[in-house]
Amino acid sequence: MKTCIIVGASHAGGHLAVTLRQSGWDGGIVLVGEEPHLPYHRPPLSKDFLAGKKSLDEILIRPREVYDKANIRVLTGRRVAAIDRSAKQIVLADGERLDYDALALAVGSSVRRMSAPGTELKGVHYLRNVADVEAIRADVRPGGNAVIVGGGYIGLETAAVLRGSGMNVTVVEMLERVMQRVTAPQVSAFYSRVHTEEGVKIFCGTGVNAFEGSGRIESVVCAGGKMLPADLVIVGIGIVPNVELAQAAGLEIDNGIVVDEFTRTSDPDIHAIGDCTNHYTRIYDRRMRLESVQNATDQARAAALAICGKGQPYDALPWFWSDQYDLKLQIAGLSQGHDEVVLRGDPGAGRSFAAFYLKEGRVIAVDAVNKPQEFMAGRKLITEKKAVDKTKLTDPAVPMRELT
Ligand code: FAD
Repeated sequence: MKTCIIVGASHAGGHLAVTLRQSGWDGGIVLVGEEPHLPYHRPPLSKDFLAGKKSLDEILIRPREVYDKANIRVLTGRRVAAIDRSAKQIVLADGERLDYDALALAVGSSVRRMSAPGTELKGVHYLRNVADVEAIRADVRPGGNAVIVGGGYIGLETAAVLRGSGMNVTVVEMLERVMQRVTAPQVSAFYSRVHTEEGVKIFCGTGVNAFEGSGRIESVVCAGGKMLPADLVIVGIGIVPNVELAQAAGLEIDNGIVVDEFTRTSDPDIHAIGDCTNHYTRIYDRRMRLESVQNATDQARAAALAICGKGQPYDALPWFWSDQYDLKLQIAGLSQGHDEVVLRGDPGAGRSFAAFYLKEGRVIAVDAVNKPQEFMAGRKLITEKKAVDKTKLTDPAVPMRELT
């Protein structure tokens, strides 16, 4: 009997295990993850799970019975230390070896760490997994001071939750505006305004030089000397793909594990999926690395079909979301390379609008805040690559369906 081993039990790995069975794989399936839990939804970690509104059981992607029923062997709390390609085996950290016929790497990413002095102080946290959130929650005190380093999605989502928990929250961002890497200035300005209205202090264009305290964090020292009192710090400055295992096994690496459109690495018996991959996307005709649940689950489906010999090129439109306060931001497509941003609604007032990113008169991405119809229509406009009527697009009185 053939065996497929999947390394990494999260969005990509868990989805692959189940989809592989559904796609007709009748051999063994072994899902190995270093975390002590079954695959769980990671997005709530900076949203409802951090806020204490959801338990771990409520964020599991699937209950244990689903894996049992599909005859999937799930090994939790087990780290894969190496891949022996010539023997077609994986080597677990305790030395146990397991044979594979097909191997899939769904090893995700890890937080980018800061090199500033003081990061080892108690109360300075990163946020990637359940254990991180449990440690953060133990430090949440109404009336206490929280400093968030990094004004990206994770930083702003945690700022919103900690504000809701009654903390005084300050966000320190090195770039000139929040979410600068991913959104237009109008969208950044909107989020800065809303966070300020909610009582969050935001310092942009400000780096962090050090964390100070005797044993526990007491203050954050910003570049330029500004001192921010802190009882809790969350550092959210991005992630790096986990490539070490693949690299040590001699697979091709280039800002992620390089895969083709069938999710195959440079070794055709080894697939890679999710955050850890660098893959080709036809819609934008370029290689990229994505950090999203959509990419993890859609690539898992592509890998399942490929491993079962029914491969279809991976060709999904990237999409993403972020929840902050009462704002639901839905993003479709990738805005890099746009030559114009057009707005539908006013980001300067109220709490809903959409920003469409155009290139040569065609929509390539949309950021929709509390505007689900604009998001849905935007997805269609992006995939159809049709020239769009800007006058209609910017007129909220014209229904989106007239544009698609
Ligand atoms: P991961 O989820 O990183 O999982 C990889 C797993 O592999 C981990 O459990 C890791 O421990 C394990 N692993 C690694 N190496 C080994 C090894 N050698 N042996 C065994 N196990 C190993 N995306 C969205 O689309 N929308 C959101 O709103 C959103 N919010 C987010 C909020 C937070 C706080 C975080 C952290 C992420 C968020 N994301 C969001 C991103 C999304 O969660 C990731 O893109 C997604 O988890 C990627 O799935 P993955 O399976 O590829 O990798």
